[in-house]
This record gives sequence, C-alpha cells and structure tokens, in this order.
Amino acid sequence: MYYQTSDARNEAHDEPNNADFKQNPNKIVTQHLVFTLPRFPKEATNKEATDFGPMGVSVNSVAFYNQNAAPGDDILEELNTFDQYEGHPQQRGQYHYHLEPTWLTGTLGDDKFMGLLLDGFPVYGPVENGIRLTNDDLDDYHGHTSATAEFPEGIYHYHITDELPWINGDGYYGKAGTLTQYYFMRRSAVLLVLFGTLWACEPSSLDPVVAEYHLPQISATKFPLTIPIYQKMLLELCYLKGLSIPAL
Ligand SMILES: [Zn+2]
Ligand SMILES: [Zn+2]
Repeated sequence: MYYQTSDARNEAHDEPNNADFKQNPNKIVTQHLVFTLPRFPKEATNKEATDFGPMGVSVNSVAFYNQNAAPGDDILEELNTFDQYEGHPQQRGQYHYHLEPTWLTGTLGDDKFMGLLLDGFPVYGPVENGIRLTNDDLDDYHGHTSATAEFPEGIYHYHITDELPWINGDGYYGKAGTLTQYYFMRRSAVLLVLFGTLWACEPSSLDPVVAEYHLPQISATKFPLTIPIYQKMLLELCYLKGLSIPAL
C-alpha cells in the first residue's frame, strides 16, 4: 500500500493481527544510491555509530536503517506503520527496514545472507544452526565471528534478532564506507557501486574493482530476488577476474 495505487506492485495492507496499523503518508519513490563498501572489511579501532538513513543494503536492494526513528519520532510508535513485509517509506519515499525483513527470511530462509552494512560486513537472518539467536548471543555491535555458508573460513557478521536494536547495536564493527544519495535523479535507475566484496573468490589475487549495479528500484517491498545483489556481485566480479564462480 506504500506504492501509488496506479503502480502494479501495489498491494493492499494485509496484517489482520495488527489492529494498530497506521499507514504513514509517504509513498515509495525510486532511489538513486551509491554504496561504496570496503572490499576487505576489518574491525575498526574506533567504532562509529550508525547514522540516520541507510546503514546498509539488503539483497533485494532495500536499505537497512538502524533502531532509531528520525529525530522527534519514536521508533516504537513507528512500528505500527510497517507494512506486512516490515518496511515503510520515509519522507523522500525511500523504503527501508529497521528490523527483520520478513519477506526475505520467509522466502530465502531465516538463517540466510540478508545483505551488507556499510562497513562491508554481512548481515544474516535470526537463525543460526537451527537456533533462533537473541541479543545475548551477540556483541554490542550485534554480531559475532564464525563460519557462515558464504564465508566458511569465518567472518564477523551481524545477525538480525527479534529484540531492539534488531539489526545493528552500538555502531559499525568495521570502518564504514560511504553512501551517496542523489535526490535529483529520481527517474534514473538505482546505481549501486561496490568496491569489491569479493571475499568468496580468492581475495588475495584480486585488485580493487569497482562494479556498478543498476537496479531499477531500491524501494521495492519484494523486488527483485531473481538476481539478489550479492549473487550478481560475486558472479560479475568473478567473471571479470577470470576466477571460478563460488557456489551460491
Ligand atoms: Zn523508518
Ligand atoms: Zn552467526
């Protein structure tokens, strides 16, 4: 219901158990964002807080936001404005998730790779090895280090949990890359630039690579999943470097 009603992607609100639902006045607008992420994420000496606005991007190209509402608003009140996929658009029409993206966890699995934060570290769903994690299983930044399906040798990664602060805790574990938002190019496709993130294909043999991802819509509630960013990223960059394609 956060698309214009004329948009074919628009769906009626469908949350029969949420009597407190309150639609916010915003509508989804195509965004033009450039994320520049560290190719080899490392723990930062000085951890920095996440800011308002996108702190990362999910595999269906929706932005991850932190646990804070915009100044003057209360995130716990905003919970009632989340649609059936647990997202909502802000004033500029940028659709985003503050907590578990239930369409992704429901479709891909709740232990799957969900996206990246700006520091280049991956975000996983709430389940690991069949167990639903809580904040007690994680450090102050909402992550821990262990092997994952994509990184069998082990990597620091965030987990989404059911409790506040949901996706990230006290800030980025690594040094954050940068985000540029082009408000004047709303009609253009989304441009997502990533420096690397090639962990799965022999990082030591790779030069820094800039890859551009043109995605038609970052503010989709369900789009696109046919080519999740992460897979596309790995495939293109591995092809570019003549490296074998990692199992996905
Ligand atoms: Zn929000
Ligand atoms: Zn984990």
